[in-house]
Amino acid sequence: MSADHDLDLAVRLLAGTPTHEGRDPLTLRQWAIAAEEFGSRMTPEETPVRVVERDDGLAAGLLARYRSRPPVVELYVDTVARAEQLVVERGWRHWYPEGSVRAAALAHEQAHAWLHHAHVRAEFKRALGHTALRLGRRRVYAHVAGADELAAHAYARAACGLGRSPLLLTEALAAVAYPESEK
Ligand SMILES: [Zn+2]
Repeated sequence: MSADHDLDLAVRLLAGTPTHEGRDPLTLRQWAIAAEEFGSRMTPEETPVRVVERDDGLAAGLLARYRSRPPVVELYVDTVARAEQLVVERGWRHWYPEGSVRAAALAHEQAHAWLHHAHVRAEFKRALGHTALRLGRRRVYAHVAGADELAAHAYARAACGLGRSPLLLTEALAAVAYPESEK
């Protein structure tokens, strides 16, 4: 049941991503399933990454951000605190245990960093199976916009043992914290 809801959220994220307007809903659903499966099965290397805490996330609409050069994860502690508070307000503690917002944010960024690696990217594209063109027997796979985001959420959910996808919390947070960004 909750897995179906998470899949609906995932499909909605893809549908709202530029380049997917007017795309067949069944295709979007297949991509969402493939991206979530790939993300939840990923085993990123444990590479130590520097975490920098900041407190200006709510104003900027950010929870965490990965920067590759030099590798650093910026964690916005004010947004994390607001998200934890929202978990309590919504009665979602059984899905998101205390402290899991921070853990999920770090896992999410770790997943993005992992998806940057060429061999992981290639594997991911193959899993999504979005064929850009065929050259004889060879298929060239295209990037699916938004799929990285779904894989990162799925990885965070699996790695942190969450009851629901962090996507649910992210959407709820966006609606309360940044109502002006709501479409
Ligand atoms: Zn992300």
